[in-house]
Amino acid sequence: MELFKSMQDIDDNSKSDKINKDTEKVKCLIIGSGPAGYTAAIYAARANLNPVLIQGLQPGGQLTTTTEVDNFPGYPEGIDGPTMMEDFRKQAERFGTDVRWGMATKADFSQRPFKVVIDEKHLIEAETVIISTGATAKYLGIESEKKYQGSGVSACATCDGFFYKGKDVAVVGGGDTACEEATYLANLCNKVYIIVRKDYLRASKTMQQRVFNTPNIKVLFEHNTKELRGIQVVEEAVLIKRMGERDESEVNIKIDGFFLAIGHKPNSEIFTNYLKTDDVGYIQTIPGTSKTNISGVFACGDVQDPHYRQAVTAAGSGCQAALDAERFLGEVESRK
Ligand code: NDP
Repeated sequence: MELFKSMQDIDDNSKSDKINKDTEKVKCLIIGSGPAGYTAAIYAARANLNPVLIQGLQPGGQLTTTTEVDNFPGYPEGIDGPTMMEDFRKQAERFGTDVRWGMATKADFSQRPFKVVIDEKHLIEAETVIISTGATAKYLGIESEKKYQGSGVSACATCDGFFYKGKDVAVVGGGDTACEEATYLANLCNKVYIIVRKDYLRASKTMQQRVFNTPNIKVLFEHNTKELRGIQVVEEAVLIKRMGERDESEVNIKIDGFFLAIGHKPNSEIFTNYLKTDDVGYIQTIPGTSKTNISGVFACGDVQDPHYRQAVTAAGSGCQAALDAERFLGEVESRK
């Protein structure tokens, strides 16, 4: 897929047939449709900012891959992820948000109005931009992982751990997330394996101590996952254990849940020419706000949050972003 790499590309292509000649002008453009984006949309729409929300590749975001959501306040009986995201969308639309299919493929934040290209062809000029593009959990890339998605495979222990109460589970990864998720699960589950590909944990010493001091956690060093097996749901994992330089052996563990904790990738690529990020790519915001290093561009949800990554924290930061955008526009207006 050809991407417009520079502003010159956008200008050149807007003179040709590639980008529609009619530039659309909006007050508030929201990119991303998880809890952060929709909450920003609800607040922005109610503040008369007439927001346009671009849904992205996975409308509804990561929660659409979750089965039951039990920890979002307001749903006493719990709710399944896709239905919850439908509710978010309907609430945003009820106040007039223009929710659209599409993908932001290029952004230019060098001056206001900011330019964002949608699906390589439609140019939007926005007075404010709210980025809520989320982060994508990394997966191992094995076939059976996809097969059991939502039937034993999860990338979020805080979201799904409860369903494995009293059962045996495994967490893959050797970083802080893996250790944190394993200790969280150890409080709920009978036994927790941590599958680590190296012979050491990358996690901080404090996290490691916590893991080693938890009696129902067993760390399997130098193990890799070959496949998951089970009738309909995960019942066992087949691991390959490295033994010395050349030898390896197959190890089977009986588990009901398989949790990925091998890192997340924030979806920030098209903004990194303009926005400050950390080493991994998380957009940096001024603490306590959604403000990025560019006035008028705000970030909320998982794309700027390596720590909490919860639907409710994302929604809260979406509210902040809309309020920050509204105040920004008010200040610009008062300067005229
Ligand atoms: P990290 O990148 O730190 O760790 C990823 C882990 O997954 C590593 O052990 C890595 O192994 C392993 N891994 C990666 N790919 C594979 C694979 N294909 N197969 C098997 N294992 C694999 O990610 P985290 O999410 O743990 O942490 C991200 C950041 O967030 C870190 O800076 C961390 O410190 C921070 N964090 C802090 C917390 C806290 O302070 N409470 C909590 C959670 C995260 P290898 O080591 O071999 O590369």
